[in-house]
Amino acid sequence: METKYIFVTGGVVSSLGKGIISSSLACLLKARGYRVTIQKFDPYINIDPGTLNPYEHGECYVTVDGHEADLDLGHYERFTNVPTTRANNVTTGRIYQSVIDKERRGDYLGKTVQIIPHITDEIKRNVMALGKTGNFDFVITEIGGVVGDIESLPFLEAVRQLRWELDGGCVCIHLTYVPYIQAAKELKTKPTQHSVKQLQQLGIQPDVLILRTEHDIPAPMRKKIAQFCNVSPDAVVQSADAPSIYKVPVLMHMQHLDEIVLRKAGIEPEGEPDMGAWNDFLSRMDSATDTVTIGLVGKYVELQDAYKSIDESLFQAATYCGRKVDIRYIHSEKVTPENVASLLDGTDGVIIAPGFGQRGIEGKFVALEWCRTHDIPTFGICLGMQCMVIEFARNVLGLKDANSTEMDPVTPHNVIDLMEEQKSIHNMGGTMRLGAYACALRPGSRAAAAYGSTAVSERHRHRFEFNSEYLTRFEQAGMQCVGKNPDTGLVEVVEIPSLRWFIGTQYHPEYSSTVLSPSPLFLDFMKSAIAYKEEKK
Ligand code: GLN
Repeated sequence: METKYIFVTGGVVSSLGKGIISSSLACLLKARGYRVTIQKFDPYINIDPGTLNPYEHGECYVTVDGHEADLDLGHYERFTNVPTTRANNVTTGRIYQSVIDKERRGDYLGKTVQIIPHITDEIKRNVMALGKTGNFDFVITEIGGVVGDIESLPFLEAVRQLRWELDGGCVCIHLTYVPYIQAAKELKTKPTQHSVKQLQQLGIQPDVLILRTEHDIPAPMRKKIAQFCNVSPDAVVQSADAPSIYKVPVLMHMQHLDEIVLRKAGIEPEGEPDMGAWNDFLSRMDSATDTVTIGLVGKYVELQDAYKSIDESLFQAATYCGRKVDIRYIHSEKVTPENVASLLDGTDGVIIAPGFGQRGIEGKFVALEWCRTHDIPTFGICLGMQCMVIEFARNVLGLKDANSTEMDPVTPHNVIDLMEEQKSIHNMGGTMRLGAYACALRPGSRAAAAYGSTAVSERHRHRFEFNSEYLTRFEQAGMQCVGKNPDTGLVEVVEIPSLRWFIGTQYHPEYSSTVLSPSPLFLDFMKSAIAYKEEKK
């Protein structure tokens, strides 16, 4: 079938969950047998979010092809099980860069280069790029920001033009907010009406309205909104707060969102989406009673979105193990030898988070020493793995002041060092070792057992690496380098086999954990944490 395009815009306020709605719709369409992809267009000028710190933008997600991307792409993958690529996340910066490059090459043949048509044409080209591959029946495009933002105007103009050009092959979904005024005990539809009006002023008539709400919106109120907004009454769907984001696809299906969208796209829906495996996951989630407590030691723990993929991977793993997970966020800057016992007391497993720079690093070493000497299941990811190596070097190998050259460029023991290929790099944007690389696991290692394989591929985002000059010393003292890049020998996985579960990965397994295909390493870590909890009883 010819590719259909679905646009998802947002109104009234940000953070309404356009990403979850887009993902839920994609999940349903996929369960109906369609080939679906989701892409996000972000209105900011950065070429990609790789240079943004987590305070600005939450977690930076990484695609298999090594693109530093918006964290919504993580939701897209978790809900659809379809890998995303560089093409799935485009910013204003990328659009302008490409137009300016063309201008410099002389591609515009002496014309004045303008927002319309040149920027909008470039946006349209990017919107259609995945559709043109022939690999997808539906391309869902989420437009970042809120209608009315200056920055998103060119994107909305491109959507307006595409609606004409695609003639029926296109559906517009607008997500708004219906606030509840506590003092008046009333839901208010006015912000939605205004938001749709703004969209209409830009020439876009939404086909479907999704109303985010904390309270049930009565049918007459939905009808009123439909009337005011030129939308058919059955195409006004509510999205009330859900106990879990993974319930949203089911809640949307109960209101026939998938059928409505198919009809608007000119397709008569047949049968029901096959949500068997998804529902199985939900029932495991609902029937879980026991809780497993995982400590997460990092320096961004006060930010809700900074460790999104790790949080979700833990949740997925716990659900498959029939448990609820309680993630105890522990600020690495606050961990000291005096309080570490009480901070980690009651945790069944500990994650040492990824990160950059010196801040909070000493707390990670303190936490790690405690975990190692008390045999608590411990999982170090990226910087967390590097910290495992440094702590072991200092406290087991006796290499005083061992460090990463990231933290101490003149350390006498650079057990973690800048990768050779990084030494000539000066630009910060998109220059780390990024994306999926193969890793060969040692047969018989805990990591290989967890994966059930000795050949895996996982995603990366780092500049520093284990310094292999120290490898023999580590292995003789009990920390094994059990995962290596088959081409370069770069150490990807370390573990201490004499402990319950003490594994560090240079890569980020959390980026590839999805609802239907959870990360084997997170699952194995979770099993070990549960076993440890049982043992403590
Ligand atoms: N800062 C470390 C490096 O660049 C680790 C990066 C990370 O944790 N993602 O190698």
